[in-house]
Amino acid sequence: MSRYPASVDVAIVGSGPAGATYARILSELAPELHVAMFEVGPTVSNPPGAHVKNIEDPEKRSLAQRRSEGPGEAAAKLNSPVALAQGKRQSRPGTYLLPDGDFSVDGGDGLPVAAMSSNVGGMSAHWTGACPRPGESERIAFLDKESGTGELDELLSEAERLLGVTTDAFEDAPFSQLIRDRLAPVVDPGRVPEARVQRMPLAVRRRDDGRLVWSGSDVVLGDVARKNTNFELFDESLVTMIVTDGGETRGVEVRDLSEGGAQQTSEVSAKVVVVAADALRTPQVLWASGIRPEALGRYLNDQSQVVFAARITGIEAQEQAGGNTSGGDAPAAKAAGAISETSGVSWVPYTDEKPFHGQIMQLDASPVPVAFDDAVIPGSIVGLGMFCAKELQRDDRVLFTDGHLDSYGMPAVRIHYTVTDRDREVMDAAEAELRRLGDAVGEPLDERVMRLPFGASLHYQGTTRMGQVDDGESVCSPTSEVWGVSGLYVAGNGVIPTSTACNPTLTGVALAVKGARDIAAKLTAEPALASTTRTV
Ligand code: FAD
Repeated sequence: MSRYPASVDVAIVGSGPAGATYARILSELAPELHVAMFEVGPTVSNPPGAHVKNIEDPEKRSLAQRRSEGPGEAAAKLNSPVALAQGKRQSRPGTYLLPDGDFSVDGGDGLPVAAMSSNVGGMSAHWTGACPRPGESERIAFLDKESGTGELDELLSEAERLLGVTTDAFEDAPFSQLIRDRLAPVVDPGRVPEARVQRMPLAVRRRDDGRLVWSGSDVVLGDVARKNTNFELFDESLVTMIVTDGGETRGVEVRDLSEGGAQQTSEVSAKVVVVAADALRTPQVLWASGIRPEALGRYLNDQSQVVFAARITGIEAQEQAGGNTSGGDAPAAKAAGAISETSGVSWVPYTDEKPFHGQIMQLDASPVPVAFDDAVIPGSIVGLGMFCAKELQRDDRVLFTDGHLDSYGMPAVRIHYTVTDRDREVMDAAEAELRRLGDAVGEPLDERVMRLPFGASLHYQGTTRMGQVDDGESVCSPTSEVWGVSGLYVAGNGVIPTSTACNPTLTGVALAVKGARDIAAKLTAEPALASTTRTV
C-alpha cells in the first residue's frame, strides 16, 4: 500500500523556503486545493522545517545536522569557519558536498564546495537568515517600477512576512551601533539612503524570554498550512520524475524511502507540479523527466566570498565601566549571554559601482576561531565578509550525463564553472574595500584577506532562470511556469535571472509568491478541474 494519495491538485517537490511558500500561499488563497509536498530528506526538527539552531540540546542539534547530510559519503566535517577560509574542501554542518570529480568538469574553476541539504526545511534549517533586498541591477527589471509593473517591492514585502524578517532581534548586541557609526563615514557618502550601512534584515525573532528563534520553513508554512487539512507533507519521499503528456503536466513519480516504504515508486497525479528542489537539483528533476529546455542548468552563478576579521579598538574603557555601547536599553553583558554564534549583523548594500554585498557579523567570544587570547570582549571581534556578483555566462552550468548517477540514483549533478577576469577584478575591489572597512572598525586580526573556495556562499542561482519571453535564454515565464510545459513551475534561487551579490533567499521566496498566486488564480478559476480533489 502506498502512503501517497493517488491524485492531488498541486504536488510540490522540496520543502525548503521556496516550496513552503507555495504551500503557504495556496493554503491562504485556495485552501480547498489538495496540496502534497514531497521531501527526499527526513524530518529533523519540530515543527517540521524548524531551524536546527532552535534545538537547545547540542547532541540533538548535531544529530539533526548529520541527518540532513544526504545518503552518500559526506565529506569530513569541521565545525570551524577557518577550514573554509583555509581553502579546505569542507562542508558546513547540515550540508554535504558533491562528490570528487563532479564539482568541476570540462576544465574551468568548478565549485569545489558546492553543497546541498536533504531534510525537511532544506537549507533553511541551517542558514544564517540574512534577508537583504536586492538593489540596482540585482533587481529584476521586468518586475520593477521602471518597467511599469512595480511588483517587485510588493513581492519582497510579502516574502519578508512569510520568512518573519526583523531588524531588531540584535538590538542589544554589544557594539552593533558602534560598528555602524564607524562604518558610516567610509561607506555612506554618495549613496542613496537604502544603500547606506544599516542593520541586516534577518529571519529571526527574539522571544519574550530573550531566546532567539530562527526562521526555517516552519515559519514560512505557518499555522495556516499546518492546520490546512488539504495540505500534506511527506518526508523521505524522492520525486524521481515529473509526468507530462503533450506539454501538459500530469503528476509525479515518487519513491518511498521511509522505513517500511520498501523503495516503492508510486505515481501521484497532479494538475500542477512545483519543483523547488534547490538550484542544483531542480534542473536534475527536469532533466530526469526529459524536460530539457535549452537554458536548463545554464547561467549558473555563485557569489565568490572574501572575508576578513578585525578587532574593535577603543572599547576597553567602556567595557570596564560596564557601559552599554549597543544603543539599546539592555546592558551589553546580558545581550552577549543570550547570543549564539554571532551577534549583531550589519549590512553594506550592493551598488553597481561596488558590485559586492557586505555582511559584518560580530562573533561571540566563545568559541572564536579567529581570536587567540583570553581577554576577548564579547562582541568585539568582527567578521567582515563580501559576497561578489558574478559575470553571467551561458556556459557556466549544471549538467548531467546518461548513466552517471548520484547516491539517490538520480542523474548526478555535475558542474562546469569559470571565473572571469572581470570576476577577479571584482574580488580584488571587494578585498580593498574590506581592508578599508576593517581599518574603520578597528585593527585587523590578521593581515590576510581570505578568499573562500568557490561554492562557499551556498547562493547558487540562474539554473532555471526566469525570462520575459521564451527565447532559449530562460527556463520559465515571469510566473515561474516552465516554457512549453503547462502546469509545471520551478522555484528557488535558480529562478533568479540577474547577477546578485545579496543573499538570495528573500528574492527566491518573492518570486515563489508570484508563482503561487498564479496557480491559485488558475485552479480556482476552473471549478470543473478543481472539483476532482481527493477526499482523505
Ligand atoms: P532548499 O532550502 O535547499 O530546499 C530544497 C529541498 O528540496 C531540500 O530539502 C531537498 O532535500 C529537496 N529535494 C531535492 N531534490 C528532491 C527530490 N528529487 N525529491 C524531493 N525533494 C527533493 N541564504 C540567504 O538568503 N541568507 C543567508 O544568510 C543564508 N545563509 C546560509 C547559511 C548556511 C549555513 C546555509 C546552509 C545556507 C544559507 N543560505 C542563506 C542559503 C539558503 O538556505 C537557501 O537559499 C534556501 O534554503 C533556498 O531555499 P530552497 O527552498 O530553494 O532550497
